[in-house]
Amino acid sequence: MLLVTDKGIRGLGLTKNLEEKIVSAGLELCVYDGTVANPTTQNVEEALSLYHKNACDCIVAFGGGSAMDCAKATGARVAKPKKSLNKMKGVLKVRKKIPLLIAIPTTAGTGSETTLAAVIVDSETRHKYAINDFPLIPSYALLDANLTVGLPKSITATTGMDALTHAVEAYIGRSTTKQTRQNALDAVKLIFENLENAYVDGKNLAARENMLKASYLAGLAFTQSYVGYVHAIAHSLGGKYNIAHGLANAVILPYVLKKYGKKIYKKLWKMGIFAGLFDKETPVEVGARLFIQKIEDMNANMNIGTKIEEIKEADIKEMAKIAEKEANPLYPVPVLFTAEQLEEIYLEVKNGH
Ligand SMILES: [Zn+2]
Repeated sequence: MLLVTDKGIRGLGLTKNLEEKIVSAGLELCVYDGTVANPTTQNVEEALSLYHKNACDCIVAFGGGSAMDCAKATGARVAKPKKSLNKMKGVLKVRKKIPLLIAIPTTAGTGSETTLAAVIVDSETRHKYAINDFPLIPSYALLDANLTVGLPKSITATTGMDALTHAVEAYIGRSTTKQTRQNALDAVKLIFENLENAYVDGKNLAARENMLKASYLAGLAFTQSYVGYVHAIAHSLGGKYNIAHGLANAVILPYVLKKYGKKIYKKLWKMGIFAGLFDKETPVEVGARLFIQKIEDMNANMNIGTKIEEIKEADIKEMAKIAEKEANPLYPVPVLFTAEQLEEIYLEVKNGH
């Protein structure tokens, strides 16, 4: 059995109990703890060689999105030994069963424990891309709030906002079902009601449990209904500057929602009503603005900034092009932006207005 995790999590002792249990059950265990934030193709190749060297037959992913995505991509490489990760980029390029995969999230945000996506960074080009295919959905997800009580405030905040971004982007997209809309609504409500409580008091187990649930529901929603431009832009910033995924999403989300404009007012209004922000008497446009304001307030209350200063103007053109390509035709976004419109968003995010 291959346990895929990272040094931070293992160093905190979070995997200790599980490692002991596996060994005492008489199973052979080998551990790959080299996963970095924004996991790379090199991480995957290292994990893969451990998998083969130890004749493993299943994978346990233990950690945040990075460890889970690294484990999923490793599984894809086991299934397709002759195909590089780069060739599996996009949709439905794995098309083969991967080894049994059990996901144990230690953050409440990525939803990777239930999605078909693994996001990987090419070690050489720093290009960040998603591999999306059904065999990557873990067979089991174990949600244990105790594993998340020790999360630092900033990680609690940014991963939680990542989950919110999943729910919102899935809900406002053009490819929803009744079920994905309901999962997204439930996730948004849970996040509005619990994230700041989990942030203020990390030991609030009820809030932690609700956030794990929200993150899972948001994952269920977006694995079918996809994400949108917020993610496309965040991926380019993760690839280029290693900006943490959740942080990037949290900052970018209000900018993109505003840019979508009227087209999404009704949907933002509906989410706001469901989450209890206002009632049906509130005019649609007012409600939509209140919904975006709520996101900005949460960011402010949790010390998430309003801009990403690392963005270099000289890089914007290239990143906008990449984001444009990622989103169209992969994501059913409510409004199509041109690369030029995306460049404007990068500038706004850089300057904070
Ligand atoms: Zn995300």
